[in-house]
Amino acid sequence: MADLLSKFDPLIAEREALLATGVRDPYAIVMDKVLSPTEAMINGRKTILLGTYNYMGMTFDPDVIAAGKQALDEFGSGTTGSRVLNGTYQGHKACEDALKEFYGTEHAIVFSTGYQANLGMISTLAGKGDYIILDADSHASIYDGCWLGDAEIVRFRHNSVEDLDKRLGRLPAEAGKLVVLEGVYSMMGDIAPLQEMVAVSKKHGAMILVDEAHGMGFFGEHGRGVFEEAGVEADVDFVVGTFSKSVGTVGGFCVSNHPKFEVLRLVCRPYVFTASLPPSVVATAATSIRKLMHAGDKRAHLWKNSRRLHQGLRDMGYKLGTETAQSAIIAVILTDMAQAVALWQGLLEAGLYVNTARPPATPAGMFLLRCSLCAEHSDEQVEQILGMFESAGRATGVIP
Ligand code: PMP
Repeated sequence: MADLLSKFDPLIAEREALLATGVRDPYAIVMDKVLSPTEAMINGRKTILLGTYNYMGMTFDPDVIAAGKQALDEFGSGTTGSRVLNGTYQGHKACEDALKEFYGTEHAIVFSTGYQANLGMISTLAGKGDYIILDADSHASIYDGCWLGDAEIVRFRHNSVEDLDKRLGRLPAEAGKLVVLEGVYSMMGDIAPLQEMVAVSKKHGAMILVDEAHGMGFFGEHGRGVFEEAGVEADVDFVVGTFSKSVGTVGGFCVSNHPKFEVLRLVCRPYVFTASLPPSVVATAATSIRKLMHAGDKRAHLWKNSRRLHQGLRDMGYKLGTETAQSAIIAVILTDMAQAVALWQGLLEAGLYVNTARPPATPAGMFLLRCSLCAEHSDEQVEQILGMFESAGRATGVIP
């Protein structure tokens, strides 16, 4: 019998060699207790969280929690069915209404995760004979959406308007084209030049889908995302997003003004062939989305935190993913996995959790520690975080 798992032997060997050096496994962390959006108990130690996507700190909002509890009591623990059969409750419609209001669109469709929203939208919109033109650094869910469908896939160099223009120009003028962009690219925390990219896409007659997973909540006047801040709302055909970041729960969605949008509910396989979200989840999501419409103070504090951390790390001599803070994600670039894990462990022992990222998830084979800030991090916590980076960075020789 050929062992089907033997293809993973190199990865198993690499992990064993790393763990044999005595470091902790960065992919096996357990949060024993979560105290707030910014603190948890890990290994018996109170730890500041700087590696969540809880950008707006909504997970412990009293109104959000109350809405979830009420829905659990009134509608039960789960729907046990698809959105198109028994799985649409009034809470799912209320959640779609909240999204329509938040984005000011005619249509909104809720999926069970953001991953499935990309999988479903991309594979359903672009079919045989159509083209998907995507940024080379796109998220895995965007790539998987391409592979699930039958369209031709064309990649352009990350954030290069010129390369996008060139590649679109080579495609048949009459073919269906979907350009897929992200507002914020989550590995390096950089944002897309959406104004220029949208103009080029329109020039070539392409439809545009923007994933605002990491932009929702704190970009633009209404917190809709980078596409709002860039002033291109009217030209973006589809916006995909998730409830697993600023909204603070789980789920995914797409909003649009396309007049034929509702037909997608019948033909989009990752929408049809899976169970809908539990009533408590859509109730928490709807409440959180409505509160995010009026979260100007939180937005301002999140930006303040992001800029302070970026400046502080830069001043210490860390190599960062962007010149200035472009989003709430700040990527610290390291030379290899051993250095990344050594710094990661030093920070964890000091009481700080950040995420590690490595190829193939990262661009250009980079090893990163990814910091993501929360609107609920206090000024004092941000200073504490900087202190921990200073000591752990020196102890591991990452900074002089
Ligand atoms: N798009 C992007 C850009 C993401 O970063 C993520 C998750 N990290 C997703 C989509 C998927 O979201 P979800 O967690 O809801 O599946």
